[in-house]
Amino acid sequence: MSETLAPVRRGKLIINGEAVDALSGRTFETRNPATGERITDVAEAGADDVDCAVRAARAAFDGGPWRTMRPAERARLLWRLGDLVLAHADEIARLETLDNGKPIFESRQIDVPMVAGCFHYFSGWATKMAGDTTAVNPAWFTYTLREPLGVLGAILPWNFPMIMVGWKAAPALAAGNTVVIKPAAETPLTAIRIGELALEAGIPPGVFNVVPGRGSVAGEALVRHPLVDKISFTGSTEVGQHIMRTAADTVKKLTLELGGKSPNIVFADADLDAALRGATSAIFYGKGEVCAAGSRLLVEKSIYDDFVSRLAERARKLVPGDPLDPKTRLGALINENQMNHVLGASESGVKEGARLVAGGQRAPVGGRGTFVQATVLADVDNRMRVAQEEIFGPVLSVIPFEGVDDAVAKANDVFYGLASGVWTRDVKKAHLVSRALRAGTVWINMYNFFDPGMPFGGYKGSGFGRDLGAACLDDCTQVKSVWLNLE
Ligand code: NAD
Repeated sequence: MSETLAPVRRGKLIINGEAVDALSGRTFETRNPATGERITDVAEAGADDVDCAVRAARAAFDGGPWRTMRPAERARLLWRLGDLVLAHADEIARLETLDNGKPIFESRQIDVPMVAGCFHYFSGWATKMAGDTTAVNPAWFTYTLREPLGVLGAILPWNFPMIMVGWKAAPALAAGNTVVIKPAAETPLTAIRIGELALEAGIPPGVFNVVPGRGSVAGEALVRHPLVDKISFTGSTEVGQHIMRTAADTVKKLTLELGGKSPNIVFADADLDAALRGATSAIFYGKGEVCAAGSRLLVEKSIYDDFVSRLAERARKLVPGDPLDPKTRLGALINENQMNHVLGASESGVKEGARLVAGGQRAPVGGRGTFVQATVLADVDNRMRVAQEEIFGPVLSVIPFEGVDDAVAKANDVFYGLASGVWTRDVKKAHLVSRALRAGTVWINMYNFFDPGMPFGGYKGSGFGRDLGAACLDDCTQVKSVWLNLE
């Protein structure tokens, strides 16, 4: 049997260099959203397991080899982990698709290369993080050291389970921190597998720990733990707010990557064929379960009717399919709750006065699974709930606008500020609108592109701190000022 068809092994916790069961012996099931079938059982971390993982990470940081290792050696190990992810690309991609329901095309062609890319890119930074010498007084020698924070807890969402491991762990480890990763209970399998590969790469025990379990138990224990220096969280706004309050007790540093309701603005002077393709993938890539999804499409009035009808036609052609089929471009939503939430949100849009021009229904594949049609709601008013609240599914709200000022005002009139898109052939307009948008990312004549070298994170209610790029290294390190009296 080929590796990609092998049965999925039982998932374990990765603590202090070993794959172990939970101290309580408890396990939970992980299910395939496309079929409803059980994939395997996974050890369920309790607060006691999280404590073991944090203590192991603490020991590996304080007295252990990671922080004191030559940066070039750390770089070598991280590069090797990137190589191992690529060497197991088919296996990891399949695990992700089984666990999450996303098309194998996305897991294999986008997610795996991104994870490997993170370990490769940030391995290069291990040798390049430096402090400054400063000209304060000739009688003194004053300089800064850029030091790791210590133990970093990473709490991950279910929509990009493996990518988030790369985003959070790679820069933290490159900077000399140790990590405890808490994957979402819905999708623990790839984080565990990457944890095993980290050990195979030679990353020392205690440096890379994985504790799958419930948010209210394992996540909460990680946030409350006094030996954790920082929490990097990606997930919903409500849980992010709760973490922020809880972290205050131990004065933990935080990076919060929360939700979005990102505007994608199409001006009449754009390359409309490209904008149409971009508007479609902006919302339907990742089944719309993407924090950065271009879920509010703002279209200039002079092209509005024609654009909406072409968009609806494209959406109707995007039929959900078996996520393991390489041709599938729209997979299954994460679970029934999410499916019902998404269907309910599109219904509520119609009740509020939006016009349903495509989709809106459940679309089982082989008679089962949590699949929803690609859905387009036209004539949405920006104050409607479907324009203001994150739906996190394949539902696009299309909003007409007139001119640059109206576009910018509507784009910014929302709680969130994660991402945005601008489609125009006018270079000056593109840059002026980019400056005016209150969002952490602006894509011009493109959408949903990511690279380990480009920072990503929120303005406003979408959170603070950055993942990726050189900018995120500031969030994984702290600065020490050293003063030496030469007199
Ligand atoms: P969620 O907030 O329900 O869960 C995220 C993680 O937090 C999970 O691991 C969960 O177990 C854990 N958690 C839950 N309660 C906790 C608690 N009390 N203490 C500590 N941890 C706890 O989010 P989700 O449903 O998994 O993911 C979807 C959300 O994530 C969406 O809102 C989406 O916009 C957001 N998201 C944001 C980004 C970004 O970069 N901004 C990226 C992906 C997803």
